[in-house]
Amino acid sequence: MVPLAITIITTNVYILFMVFRILRPDSSLVWNNKELRKRFPRYRGIIDDKEVARYIIAKSLCCEFDSNYTIEDLEKLLEEKSREFNELLKTSTEEIKKRNVASKNFIDLTEQLALRYLEDCMFCERQCSVNRITGEKGFCLLSKDSYVSSAFLHMGEEAPLIPSGTIFFQSCNFGCVFCQNYDISQKWKESKKIEDLAQKVDVKQLAALADRLVEKGAININYVGGDPIPNIHAIVGSLQHQTSNITQLWNSNFYLTNKALSLIIDLIDFWLPDWKWGNNECGKKYSGIDKYFDVIARNHKRIHDEGSGEIIIRHLIMPNHVECCSKPILDFVSKELPKVVMNLMGQYRPEWKSFKYPEINRRPTMEEIHEVKNYADDLGILYEPVS
Ligand code: SF4
Repeated sequence: MVPLAITIITTNVYILFMVFRILRPDSSLVWNNKELRKRFPRYRGIIDDKEVARYIIAKSLCCEFDSNYTIEDLEKLLEEKSREFNELLKTSTEEIKKRNVASKNFIDLTEQLALRYLEDCMFCERQCSVNRITGEKGFCLLSKDSYVSSAFLHMGEEAPLIPSGTIFFQSCNFGCVFCQNYDISQKWKESKKIEDLAQKVDVKQLAALADRLVEKGAININYVGGDPIPNIHAIVGSLQHQTSNITQLWNSNFYLTNKALSLIIDLIDFWLPDWKWGNNECGKKYSGIDKYFDVIARNHKRIHDEGSGEIIIRHLIMPNHVECCSKPILDFVSKELPKVVMNLMGQYRPEWKSFKYPEINRRPTMEEIHEVKNYADDLGILYEPVS
């Protein structure tokens, strides 16, 4: 029997922690905010090694299935095991740490189902229905392989998240006209030579990258891009090989299908969604996707109610979009997502194809930023500790 792994904090890591605290003192001061601690109890608990990361617990949950199982059989089993997993989460940390890794477990089940979905890809709501296993490609232009453009300790994330072990995946399922990461999300598609820009990784290499970031002092593994959604199968598969008690953080546009979200909803400890548009029309015009608000609102509700509920929503305040986008998002958050913390971001700058859209071809004004923050204040939304 293999016991569940527990991180050993070495002296080197401790020194690195102290260096980071000097560079970004807010990364420790932010935890003086009692409301923030109250909203992120499990995340803080994992940092202090008083809680166990969800993916580690998932490894101890036995799941029996074989290659004859249909997609429907696997989905049914996932539903059943998800209920068992959520019961298991109520067990004390001491008891959890005594459990062993099951030879066939909850991670195997989610990976198996993810690979089956990849044969008719529907990870995101574009629902391209291509067989990525045989090399077909949809909008994101990715076959079954995942490519990492960089992986490093990020010091620019929100105060409670740093140092963040950030893994940037090449490619994206969106087509935002102003993308700030357009070189890794979109531009490469013009040349179609992904191998020249990023490193192909299998599940073991991805796990090794994550483990190295932990050794360097990361307090979470932060999957971003581009977007992590097209890489769900690889990320879930890598969890079987990761060993540290560390928060798994999903940093994404959140345009997943319901089925894809079901694969990760129990395994992710912390959510960092990016919510820009307050209606479907702006989502279509500037990000090139359908049903934006409907899908994003639905997924936020699920991670809030069924998932860990530990969430920082990033909202990029766009010029000329306070009434149609910022305010409807804040209204939804205040009514439906009372546990979240928001990062109201004023740093938008025109990039890439923004010049074709005069209304967003400038930075937001101070008046626009203040108007959004005042509106959030009136609704009682917590944003100051992370904005
Ligand atoms: S991840 Fe989304 S964009 Fe990529 S192939 Fe699948 S459905 Fe299409």
